[in-house]
Amino acid sequence: MPSSRYAQIWKIAPVFVLVTCVTGIGAVEHTVAPSDTLFGLSLQYDIPITWIVRANDLSDESIRVGEVLNIPTEGIRSLEVRPGDTLSALSVELDIPVKQLRAVNALDTDLLAVGQRLIIPPPIPRGTHRVLSGDSLLSIAHQYDISLEALKTINGLDSDVIYPNQLLSVLPPRPDGHEVASGESLWSIADRYGLSINDLKTWNGLQRDVIHPGEILVLYQGLEKSSIRTPSADVALASLPKRNPETAPAGPNVEIPSFGEYFYSAPTAMRQPNDEYWESPDASPLVDYHHAQKVIEAFDAEIEAEGASGSRLRGYQIILDPGHGGLDPGAIVSVEDGDGNPVVVTEDEYAYDIAMRLYRILVRNGAMVSLTILAPDHHVRDGLNARQTFVHRKNEVYNDEAHNGNAAWRPVGGIQGLDLRKEVTSNVIASTPASLRRKGTLFVSIHADNTSDFPAGTAVLFDGENDEELAASEKLADAMASRLGAGSFTHRQQLRVLRNNPADAAVLVEARNIHYHRNAWALRSAELREQDARMIAEGILAWVDAR
Ligand SMILES: [Zn+2]
Repeated sequence: MPSSRYAQIWKIAPVFVLVTCVTGIGAVEHTVAPSDTLFGLSLQYDIPITWIVRANDLSDESIRVGEVLNIPTEGIRSLEVRPGDTLSALSVELDIPVKQLRAVNALDTDLLAVGQRLIIPPPIPRGTHRVLSGDSLLSIAHQYDISLEALKTINGLDSDVIYPNQLLSVLPPRPDGHEVASGESLWSIADRYGLSINDLKTWNGLQRDVIHPGEILVLYQGLEKSSIRTPSADVALASLPKRNPETAPAGPNVEIPSFGEYFYSAPTAMRQPNDEYWESPDASPLVDYHHAQKVIEAFDAEIEAEGASGSRLRGYQIILDPGHGGLDPGAIVSVEDGDGNPVVVTEDEYAYDIAMRLYRILVRNGAMVSLTILAPDHHVRDGLNARQTFVHRKNEVYNDEAHNGNAAWRPVGGIQGLDLRKEVTSNVIASTPASLRRKGTLFVSIHADNTSDFPAGTAVLFDGENDEELAASEKLADAMASRLGAGSFTHRQQLRVLRNNPADAAVLVEARNIHYHRNAWALRSAELREQDARMIAEGILAWVDAR
């Protein structure tokens, strides 16, 4: 039910604005330093200059040293009409169709009055169309000059039914990289994938607009050119599997195609052969998202059959955030087995496994548990044997249907990727009945990084945008570290995913620092991963009991 879920988020959006004003979520304060310029700030926070100008009611583009500016990092949700504003100019400035501005504000004329307040719908990614009443799939296909069939395939739609406010992708899924063909320009490539020229230049370290045929451009922030294989967008579209109606519906007894510990599809390689190897997804993000939902349903049914083991976490909502995933594997380390053969450990695959084990324990103790990132092809995996390390598959998706229906991108590192994890978290919290989270909401990010700066014990990291957030998260970190075994410690660290986190308390657990080979070695053992998950769960229970 893509539309109804989105419609719900849409209705909730203005409430977030209110919260924003009171607690500062969604905006940060910046004290102007001598070297600051509006242009520099727009780059630093990755938002348009005009947002800063509007949020601070600046009369021109000059700022003064020492002045405290409000930086609307999550976008402007409303604005006051200023002299000279017109609906069409605002449409260009905010990159929102005039039709949309008119509909949201129930305007029957395009004339604006100075001082009038306009609601600004949340920005949608380029390459995305928000369905307005009166739209049909056919009219949208015509508008963007694509075939009806392609439009349905890209969005994983089985029928022609669409709903107002639904987000549809009007571009094929974006590959990791693009090989420049002769006659192509930065502009044509940006346009093709729905990107901005600036992003393309920044991500590829280009100083000028000149590109050459044969050159590889990365199409996501934080990707290395050397890791790119380049299917063309047409191939990506042609290879999208059609949804198989036989596997679509799932009742209480979830039946989905499985291969050993995998569902829908399994990796090609038996083990991770070296640190460069990876396998591409074999479906679009939206199809993978739907598969992942079924996999979680199957896991939930399994957990329910095992029965509850306690109820101390009833009333708590816990959002688990498996580190990395999608295009970003996190740390990859290679250790040797007794015979000198390489054994390669990929962080995101193992962090996900610990997160799923933790999920199971928390659910059995009565918590409402949700995830930020989902794998479409497995839940908990034991692995056949410890040498058979999990393969780096780039198929994880964000747990947000609306995002995956867009010009969807899979998890990436960097500002954009981390902020989306928080956005997913706030949507998940908002769509959960208040009774299921009446005692509080927690956010726990699970990692196993390669950190030479830290000792070998388990680190629980915390951070906060203000004193209150900091204190709440530090308490949770302390409680957790008390249960994580010898050598575990807490540490405050600037972490974007924790700052302004929508949950009441947020921490990041470095379950195993794989800089130490014995940790990388231990991570391969299903029993030890279960033990790690159990200790984290006990830390959460200790925190609950101390409240
Ligand atoms: Zn990590």
